[in-house]
Amino acid sequence: MNKRNSGETDRMQEIVSLSKRRGFMFPSSEIYGGLNAVFDYGPLGVELKNNVKRAWWDSMTRLRDDVVGLDASILMARRVWQASGHEAVFTDPLVDCTNCKGRFRADHVEEMSGDPNVCPACGMRGTLTAPRQFNLMFKTYMGPVEEEAGLVYLRPETAQGIYVNYENVQTSMRKKLPFGIAQIGKAFRNEISPGNFTYRMREFEQMEMQFFIPPEQEEQWFNYWRDQRMKWYSDFGMRPESLQFHPHGPEELAHYARAAVDVYFQFPFGWREIEGIHDRTDFDLRRHIEYSGKDLSYYDDAQQRHYVPYIIETSVGADRSTLAFLCDAYDEEEVKGEKRVVLRLSKKLAPVKVAVMPLSKKDELVALTHQVHDVVRPLGLTQYDDTGGNIGKRYRRQDEIGTPYCVTVDFDSLEDKQVTIRERDSMQQRRVPIAELRGLLAADLES
Ligand code: ATP
Repeated sequence: MNKRNSGETDRMQEIVSLSKRRGFMFPSSEIYGGLNAVFDYGPLGVELKNNVKRAWWDSMTRLRDDVVGLDASILMARRVWQASGHEAVFTDPLVDCTNCKGRFRADHVEEMSGDPNVCPACGMRGTLTAPRQFNLMFKTYMGPVEEEAGLVYLRPETAQGIYVNYENVQTSMRKKLPFGIAQIGKAFRNEISPGNFTYRMREFEQMEMQFFIPPEQEEQWFNYWRDQRMKWYSDFGMRPESLQFHPHGPEELAHYARAAVDVYFQFPFGWREIEGIHDRTDFDLRRHIEYSGKDLSYYDDAQQRHYVPYIIETSVGADRSTLAFLCDAYDEEEVKGEKRVVLRLSKKLAPVKVAVMPLSKKDELVALTHQVHDVVRPLGLTQYDDTGGNIGKRYRRQDEIGTPYCVTVDFDSLEDKQVTIRERDSMQQRRVPIAELRGLLAADLES
């Protein structure tokens, strides 16, 4: 392994270990040995992911007039997946190794082993079978009997819940085109080669928005959403050099798409997709018209014509983007001869906004620190931190989870009613009156 690769692997290992150690992510069912490619979010992880979801939801719905929200069910009629094409073609090519019995996605083999004919696990050449198609949808049965008539799928994407509700939303909300419907929810895929921590999981969350438009506005809205989505990442602190567009060539396009561009992020394990922006044409609504027998065309008052709306989709994984924010924020530096690990997360995404700490555990300091904690509680998730170690060590622990501000109560505070604010990135400290603390921090957190 060359030096660069080994550094990148170390970086990912550091992030995985920090996630476990500090309560971001844990393997599912860990005390039973874990469940492959399924993860649980700990106390800090759930805050971080909720903040990512809130950031997306606000920018997609609350801060716009032309997108509304939806929360559709995971279980849907089987016909939906026949109409969408998932039952027939949502497959990945699977190859087996006859030597080590390993299983891989045929299109991943070359990247994993460096040669399409060499097994990524045992390194043997010529032992891989011909690819066979494997459907990625999880099945279950509705009702007490496991029979074909009760077969349902766990949805592999949230988008279909939006399409089948298009008319409900459009008429109930009296929406005129163009308008969009946004949704955040779980999706399930029986991935053949999951991995890279929470990058590719079997149970994950998607944040999808479907924008319904007149057919002739296809290109204009595709370009608009492509640019908006890229901007969103930098608005929330991602470094521009960590991001790039990856337009799909004709051989990469999904069965429903006329044009597609992915947003790629530079993970420690390489450039990978975190989001897709797709021009889905009228494929989806036409298929649902065909399979349901319901007319989903739109009557355009202004133009006095009927048409089936075209759709521009933006689709991002909540887990994948959370991992990307985490990787991008992770930083190590040397301060006074010691390693400082700091998560330079945007203040809006940081799980803990403010940590309040007494300089020592003396009763009178502890009492005042609790009062100061109550003052800052409305600012978001805050922590009272009197865990072992000197104040420097406690600052470091807060740096490691990305807390933007620490507030320290010391013996002078008892007299002068002032406390010290210490800032994560610059490590600078300033003394402020307790009476002004909340207002100052609120302004800083907004900045
Ligand atoms: P990939 O090529 O990585 O399998 P995809 O092109 O199939 O992804 P889409 O179907 O476009 O992905 O899904 C949209 C988004 O959902 C992806 O960009 C990703 O962020 C997220 N996503 C898809 N599959 C997974 C998964 N198995 N685990 C976590 N997130 C996922």
